Amino acid sequence: MVQPRGSRVSAVFPLRLLVDEKKKKVVFAEAGKDLVDFFFSLMLLPLGAAVSLLGRESTPGSVGKLHESISNLDSSYFSKSPSASPSEVKDELKSPTLPCPRLRLGDLHLPYPRSSVRLLEVRMCDNCYGFASEVYDAKCPSCRREMTRTLKLVQPSAVEEKGFVKELVAYAITDDLSIAPLSTFSTLALMKRLKVTDLAPLQERTVMVGVEQGIKILGISLRSKTVLSDVFLSED
Ligand SMILES: [Zn+2]
Repeated sequence: MVQPRGSRVSAVFPLRLLVDEKKKKVVFAEAGKDLVDFFFSLMLLPLGAAVSLLGRESTPGSVGKLHESISNLDSSYFSKSPSASPSEVKDELKSPTLPCPRLRLGDLHLPYPRSSVRLLEVRMCDNCYGFASEVYDAKCPSCRREMTRTLKLVQPSAVEEKGFVKELVAYAITDDLSIAPLSTFSTLALMKRLKVTDLAPLQERTVMVGVEQGIKILGISLRSKTVLSDVFLSED
């Protein structure tokens, strides 16, 4: 599995928090496209990938045990697929490649392989064109010869770079990870919805979100409705 971005230094993004210093709670945060891409990308993360990133012991619930069972089960119990050996099938269950070419866990580059960077290979018939298979030496449906000519599919990097949301606006992120463009609800409407009545204890803080915080956000978002407070105010 190739990871061309592995050597690249992971980006760090600023997140502006509006903090209620009295209640020690994040009221809401303001973020740009990159961080919103990161938050949204968590939806596409397979459970096996989440366990790999968080570590079995730190994964909430029993999913860690499920992951451990796969690890403990000898490769000989797994069946092979047309494109993978039993031990590769086992590895894919433990650490599945990310399914979406646009999923990079944002620019945060959480240390996890992505399928977008893996070359996909298909086999074609040498005799007639128009047929391809993911299975090596499958029979061509037209001339019945074995399809053995290898074609490599490359995911366009332009698509990969786009992420999920538009860059034009700033986004508001509440403590329970409700995310919307700041323009949709004005700051005032948002404060009303969050029942903020006392403005005196409100302070602005800017925190940096990098890989370490990204993994923390992933873990805490699985069990908490006050994610931003838990991640960024826990050291206070
Ligand atoms: Zn053919």
